[in-house]
Amino acid sequence: MKQIFFIAFLIAGIPSFCQTTIQRDAEIEKMVKEISSDSLKSYIKSMVAFGTRNTLSTQTNPKRGIGAARNWVLGKFNEFAKQSGGRLSAFIDTTTLQPDKRRIDTVTLLGNVVATLKGTDPNDNRIFIISGHLDNMRSSPTERMGDAPGANDDASGCAAVIECARIMSKHNFPATIIFVTVSGEEQGLLGSAFMSEKAKKENWNIVAVLNNDIMGSNNSNETNIINNTKVRVFSEGIPAYETEKVAANIRNLGMENDGKSRQLARYVKEIGERYVDNMEVVLIYRNDRFLRGGDHTPYVQRGFAAVRITEMNENYTRQHQDVRVENGIQYGDLEEYIDYEYLRKNTGINLANLANLSKAPAMPDSVKMEVKKLTNSTLLYWQTPKIGKVKGYYVLVRETTSAFWQRKIFTAETEMRLPYSKDNYFFAVQSVNETGNESLPVVPLPGR
Ligand SMILES: [Zn+2]
Repeated sequence: MKQIFFIAFLIAGIPSFCQTTIQRDAEIEKMVKEISSDSLKSYIKSMVAFGTRNTLSTQTNPKRGIGAARNWVLGKFNEFAKQSGGRLSAFIDTTTLQPDKRRIDTVTLLGNVVATLKGTDPNDNRIFIISGHLDNMRSSPTERMGDAPGANDDASGCAAVIECARIMSKHNFPATIIFVTVSGEEQGLLGSAFMSEKAKKENWNIVAVLNNDIMGSNNSNETNIINNTKVRVFSEGIPAYETEKVAANIRNLGMENDGKSRQLARYVKEIGERYVDNMEVVLIYRNDRFLRGGDHTPYVQRGFAAVRITEMNENYTRQHQDVRVENGIQYGDLEEYIDYEYLRKNTGINLANLANLSKAPAMPDSVKMEVKKLTNSTLLYWQTPKIGKVKGYYVLVRETTSAFWQRKIFTAETEMRLPYSKDNYFFAVQSVNETGNESLPVVPLPGR
């Protein structure tokens, strides 16, 4: 397998187009090819068939409501567990919600359906999470009786989670991958808050969270844009976690655009576009859509790297709408509006990233930039990570105004002197293994 991957962008004076060399890990390529539009369609049809999946809906009816829906997801995970050689295990993690006079009007049992694909390396405690929300809402978040199909928001994200679990559970990864469909998103991100708080308390080594919410429809209302070749990834700018504590450092080093969720977003773009054809991953440099939230937010608030993956063009005649026809317009989040080819590609972006991250060695340790004296070149140095087998490292370079890394330079050493001034460029270092799977990048800190 020859899978060394290399993108060489010239830093200055490049025309709008330049050649890239793409080498894919054959195992990841095969898994991405296995993603099936038909499977995704069958999952969404099954979820819609529960009538409503509102968090406050019935939990005792075997055919309708959130209780039946989460049992169905658990059933799918248990089915996949059989082919995993005992590595995949699933359960419903529950907590009791108290009335809050807002979106919860009665004591309610919330359940996240969690499937864990245990890593094969006993020394590797890293965890990668893919999340979607199983619950949904009509026009009112507390209306639990009427039909709420929620095909796109967020059966689409859950379908991606389930399909990744189906395919990935047949493969071995050194690190652990958690597939989760949460509830309580529409009640205030409650399922995700419950899970991220547990992770924080129990010191889980979560390296990345991919939150998928609304990712299966290709067109917008009002502007009528139709496009199934772009998907958005939202990532926070200034980290929400310990902002006060780290603010001076961020200001001093000009790191406003280099938090770990932003690094994850850039990574998702590179790896997503490496493995999925006819897709552009569009980075949006804000935590979420304007004044709105999602399930990655409780994670970033607790200091984890987390991003939101969402379709390019949202359609507000379908989101959070009672199913009805008004002035000739069909409202409601109906299954017939899902573009399964688009959802297949968006699922591929998730799978490729989860696989590449969990196959990669851990990030390099103690990445430093020498600052003892003023120089026009830049010396970076670091240590070999303790987890995973490293073939070498990529040193990433970009101009301060560039949104993306522009150069990616391989070295087998643990230091590199670059003929670029640290005043004018940003740098980072990734670990990479024999099959070309690279870790998330680490931005160097001043080394004295
Ligand atoms: Zn949603």
